[in-house]
Amino acid sequence: MDPGYHLMELPTKVLIGEGVISKLGDFVRDSAGGGRVVVASGANVASKVRRAVESALYEEPIWVEVAAADLMNVDGVMGAAASTRCIIGVGGGKSVDVGKLAAFRLHIPFYSVPTSASHDGISSPFASLKGLDRPYSIMAKPPVGILADIDVIASAPRRLLASGCGDLVSKLTAVKDWELAHKVTGEYFGGYSASLALMSANTVLDRSRILGSFDKESVRELVEGLISTGVAAGIAGSSRPCSGSEHLFSHYLDVLAPEAGLHGEKCGIGTIMMAKLHGIDWRRVRSALKNVGAPVEASQIGVGDSKVIEALTKASTIRPDRYTILSKRKLTRRSASLLAKSTGVI
Ligand code: ZN
Repeated sequence: MDPGYHLMELPTKVLIGEGVISKLGDFVRDSAGGGRVVVASGANVASKVRRAVESALYEEPIWVEVAAADLMNVDGVMGAAASTRCIIGVGGGKSVDVGKLAAFRLHIPFYSVPTSASHDGISSPFASLKGLDRPYSIMAKPPVGILADIDVIASAPRRLLASGCGDLVSKLTAVKDWELAHKVTGEYFGGYSASLALMSANTVLDRSRILGSFDKESVRELVEGLISTGVAAGIAGSSRPCSGSEHLFSHYLDVLAPEAGLHGEKCGIGTIMMAKLHGIDWRRVRSALKNVGAPVEASQIGVGDSKVIEALTKASTIRPDRYTILSKRKLTRRSASLLAKSTGVI
């Protein structure tokens, strides 16, 4: 039942631009004072930005290496952060998810310092972790602050940036699913947050060629788009504007083929097919993804035809409370195969 009200939680500040990592100490000072902070990051990322992070902070931080996005790593960060005043997650995905949930559980502020732009978790109130009782994101709190250094992010591998475009374009079908659910189940639909999320999807659809150059200007546009979709989720008070049937498909592939493809890559491929189910221009989605260098065929991410078909037929079962086009259309193996073939996914 829709209670008729909802809470909006949003990031308080965003610092974006070239070289802004040098301002990290001032950026977290509201929360940290001059005291020590915990920095959660992967080994790879730490080797690249460690010196810049340390020279920007007022005190040497406690580094906690995040090896995987799971509860064990959340416990590790919580243990290190128990007597500190905030947590900074520095990285592409895992460290931000782990740091976000650790801070949420400790009731202390979290700062997100993305080193790539591969998905919208950099600003959203959600954390995506393995080992939970469900294979999709859980609600935490949005980061208090996001510091996005365009120099750092622009030097991330292109594959990660293209994946970010896949996560952005997925808002197209996420919003369609949300509208559909509103009509069928009476669920709350927020027109404003839906428009905001759609604006980010349209950035990819309208400007894929420019965006796909991944020069500093387009990387900044991509990052602003991702931050903005996270904010859309904050305004909606749910992941609805950012995550629909295409995300269910992606989450099901996470279970079937855990090592194959990045989140945004799987969501992008899912969006092509869900767009066709919704009767909207799926060819435009496909060509935009191609233009930014994101995969459009399952084989490009090492997923076989039978797994695509299985994911299409079963994706809606992992989250029965979320009404999407897959709840309405209930694909059989045959119709799923036709859908995947007709869109060139398999
Ligand atoms: Zn996503």
